[in-house]
Amino acid sequence: MLVMMQRNATPQDIQAVCDAIQVLGFNPLPMPGALRTAIGVAGDDGQVDTSHFEGMAGVASVLYDSKPYKQVSRDWQPEKSLVSIGHGVVFGGTEVPVVAGPCSVEGEDEIVHIARLVKAAGAVALRGGAYKPRTSPYAFQGLGEEGLRQLALARSETGLPIITEAMDERQADLVAKYADCIQLGARNMMNFSLLKHLGRLGVPVLLKRGMSATITEWLLAAEYIMSEGNRRIILCERGIRSYDTATRNVYDLSAIPVVQRLSHLPIIGDPSHGVGIRDAVPPLARATVAVGADGVIVEVHQQPDKAWSDGAQSLHPPQFEEMVRSLLPIAEAVGRSIMGAGTAVV
Ligand code: PEP
Ligand code: MN
Repeated sequence: MLVMMQRNATPQDIQAVCDAIQVLGFNPLPMPGALRTAIGVAGDDGQVDTSHFEGMAGVASVLYDSKPYKQVSRDWQPEKSLVSIGHGVVFGGTEVPVVAGPCSVEGEDEIVHIARLVKAAGAVALRGGAYKPRTSPYAFQGLGEEGLRQLALARSETGLPIITEAMDERQADLVAKYADCIQLGARNMMNFSLLKHLGRLGVPVLLKRGMSATITEWLLAAEYIMSEGNRRIILCERGIRSYDTATRNVYDLSAIPVVQRLSHLPIIGDPSHGVGIRDAVPPLARATVAVGADGVIVEVHQQPDKAWSDGAQSLHPPQFEEMVRSLLPIAEAVGRSIMGAGTAVV
């Protein structure tokens, strides 16, 4: 339930409504907006009598929210969230950040080198995995904390903020010491204890869509993080499972505008995992910007054929450079711009 206050409601009116919500045994969540404050009633099971609030001073209306997710919903916060990961990189505004890097961190020289290359081509953040969720336990599992240290070095060499995955609570604590944003991967989207932990850590989270998650399940995963007090969430569409073996996944571009109607959270697209085929990544990156995504993330490797993971979908650096260049007019056509465009050597 949501109590919408009048534009001229006083701080005392707002406090009185919060107190009344508390007396009923629920948690009030005041959300000051540009024009007026909305007060969410967390934990409301639909049984609260609206007339309780309708007559109170400063109350404009009381709304019932039929959606299972609350705080991530546009009903609760009509204006879009801006999520900063530091170093001037903000998701959700008119500027569209491009994030790039190898699937796995493979060594100090390698990560610093690729960070320089992607930055020169227009990337504003570096992503690489130190803890890798591999389908086989015998596949390369990532360099662990050494990989985190190498990512931090790449950040100090280039100024690019770093995004990297954590697969459990212990890793998350460690990753938070090094990274600017923690990736919660597709395989963990329904790891509810990890979601809550990330909510308490308060570090920005890149929340990937689960392999077969519905949009509602995905937004509920975001709600888990937000319900613990962390509002810095960036959603990432990365393709969903289908029966078709011709592509790695079905890259669900339709999710991007649909989620933007349902939620105020920024949403970016990952065509690399979405399609899994290198040459199909640039056209899908263009489509990602065209449908209005708040960012694009792709895998790039100096020598994709030698990559320790996901080589088949990793772009060669010149391909990435060409891709970023091609995004500029598309962003402009949809009233956006590519972040950093004009400053990078594109
Ligand atoms: C990755 O980003 O390398 C990755 C494993 O992604 P996802 O969780 O989307 O499969
Ligand atoms: Mn990968």
